[in-house]
Amino acid sequence: MSEASVLRAGFPLLAANPGLHYLDSAATAQIHRAALDAVVCHETLSRANVLRGSHRLAEAADQAFDAARRRVARFLNANSAEEVIFTSGATAALNLVAHAFGATLRPGDRVLISQAEHHSNFVPWQMLRDRAGIELDLLPVTASGELDPAALPRLLSARTRLVAVTQCSNVTGAWTDVAAIVAAARRVGAKVLLDGAQAVQHGPQDVRALGIDFYAFSGHKCFGPGGVGVLWGKAEVLAALPPFLGGGGMIDEVAPQRSTWAELPRRFEAGTPPIAQAVGLASALDWMMALDWTDIHARETRLGAQAIEGLLRIPGVRLLGPAGTAARAPIISFDIAGLHPHDVCQVLDHHQLALRGGHHCAQPLLAALGVDACARASFALYNDEADVAALIDGVAAAVRTLA
Ligand code: PMP
Repeated sequence: MSEASVLRAGFPLLAANPGLHYLDSAATAQIHRAALDAVVCHETLSRANVLRGSHRLAEAADQAFDAARRRVARFLNANSAEEVIFTSGATAALNLVAHAFGATLRPGDRVLISQAEHHSNFVPWQMLRDRAGIELDLLPVTASGELDPAALPRLLSARTRLVAVTQCSNVTGAWTDVAAIVAAARRVGAKVLLDGAQAVQHGPQDVRALGIDFYAFSGHKCFGPGGVGVLWGKAEVLAALPPFLGGGGMIDEVAPQRSTWAELPRRFEAGTPPIAQAVGLASALDWMMALDWTDIHARETRLGAQAIEGLLRIPGVRLLGPAGTAARAPIISFDIAGLHPHDVCQVLDHHQLALRGGHHCAQPLLAALGVDACARASFALYNDEADVAALIDGVAAAVRTLA
């Protein structure tokens, strides 16, 4: 058995659908059995609310939830578990920063995002601009959709308080040159937020080595359950921020006139958190940490290169994003002259190919690339050469059928 088939066997949905070519992992990666089992096990044996009870089930839930936080911290190489905030997903994590960090900004302060952002790292900043009177600057992209570092010096100023960019584009797969962004941001004293939603399924992260202040991601994109995500923040940065959502669990004391806030991380976790989902996410991340990522990256890169080469042989296909595979994750978006990606993806579905077609919640980036919509094939560690071959045959068939 190939390495990919061994990995594939650990994913119940893929094991149950041997003919399926799942190429939509950038939207949602499949859940690994370890994560699913951990959720079922927690819900079956330890289900109780956290931080509230003194019975033994509540204690078991507390311990599992605390352990999940430590396990996420390990995956991120965070300094401490208190830097890990559980949210409902990357979108909630990004909105949390836009509100909590946003509350510290004054009219005239500036936030820099890029034109390549997912709407989740775009719209919250537009909303902050409109409610707080800050200025929102836009780092342009190059012709191939990559963040243009040459534009950084003219866009950054002493008023720039935050640079919030994606680590990896969900449309082009382009990796951001994080070191260049961090160095430029530090020169003007700005904090840096990375949207890691697309990066996490390609291996463990090191937030300390990245040199950033905030990191956001979702569990469903890294082989874990849905409904859970993480905001990591440097302890001293988070500790200086006011809460975003109010409610149970996030207070120190509530008096009729005023309330005081809990310490990290509870200050940012109002209400009952996604407990079993956090436990499942931690199990997915533990499983990922035990893998050989050198081999997986080599295979993901090879599959991406084969897909690009095969697709470009089909008349009318245009690739979006960097020309090669060196600077991109295996996310391959393409446009076919005269065909709508929704039609293309519907034909591909008849060939057992699951691809996404549309604007991918990145309309400003698509506008810069000159398209309204495109088809996207995204590969993960369970894909192999058979998926690439099926993709190329399927797209050629779609062109024949629809042209
Ligand atoms: N950022 C990027 C780059 C993404 O690809 C996505 C999901 N498509 C998100 C943020 C938002 O993630 P979620 O919908 O899980 O909150």
